[in-house]
Amino acid sequence: MSGAVLVVEDDRELRELVRRYLERAGHAVRSTGSGAEAIELVTGGGVELVVLDLGLPDVDGREVLAVAREGGREVPVVVLTARSSVDDRIEGLRGGADDYVTKPFSPTELVLRVEAVLHRTRAATGGGAGAVTFGGGRLRLDEARHEAHLDGALLELTPTEWGVLTALAATPGRVYSRYELINQVRGYEFPGYERTIDSHVKNLRRKLGPDAAHLVATVLGVGYRLGWSRDR
Ligand code: CA
Repeated sequence: MSGAVLVVEDDRELRELVRRYLERAGHAVRSTGSGAEAIELVTGGGVELVVLDLGLPDVDGREVLAVAREGGREVPVVVLTARSSVDDRIEGLRGGADDYVTKPFSPTELVLRVEAVLHRTRAATGGGAGAVTFGGGRLRLDEARHEAHLDGALLELTPTEWGVLTALAATPGRVYSRYELINQVRGYEFPGYERTIDSHVKNLRRKLGPDAAHLVATVLGVGYRLGWSRDR
């Protein structure tokens, strides 16, 4: 069960830009420039994550943040802020934000942050849907139990290998760059270490057997993608 990413930003151009990038990465997106409407959408359900500008014209962004956190709702929030002082960032994170991005930001970087938070949240909650399968039931990933089965056999994966596999499986077919993968697996930026992903992929493939090169496919000059589609 995955809901939409809600983009709350009163700057229309920026809102549309963020929407476009998120949609291109395969996410369902809703968007609004109004804090009041954001609160309605969050309380209405179906929102899996909020990208939130704190400076809104009608309602203080922190109110939206509080609502996302209310009564065990725990919708993750990535805060957009023009404020760059460390104190403000810390205040934002204390207020319950899962991550923050300081303006001006690169939309690609924002998408990475959003996906890293989604990945962590889904891993922590088991995605709310139990195990998911790929390739007609051949690959089975159970985030809640942290278990991967291939053709019925349990795969003994390191945390990083598990991270790479589940990151790719989040959107089968989509190409993930090494930078994106290291970011998602580690949960933060890891500049200069993108190539370490290659050795993890190599080890992962060894465990995946004869279909490995198709299951975790190399896209030359770009990165990796999951070659099997998710079962319905
Ligand atoms: Ca604003």
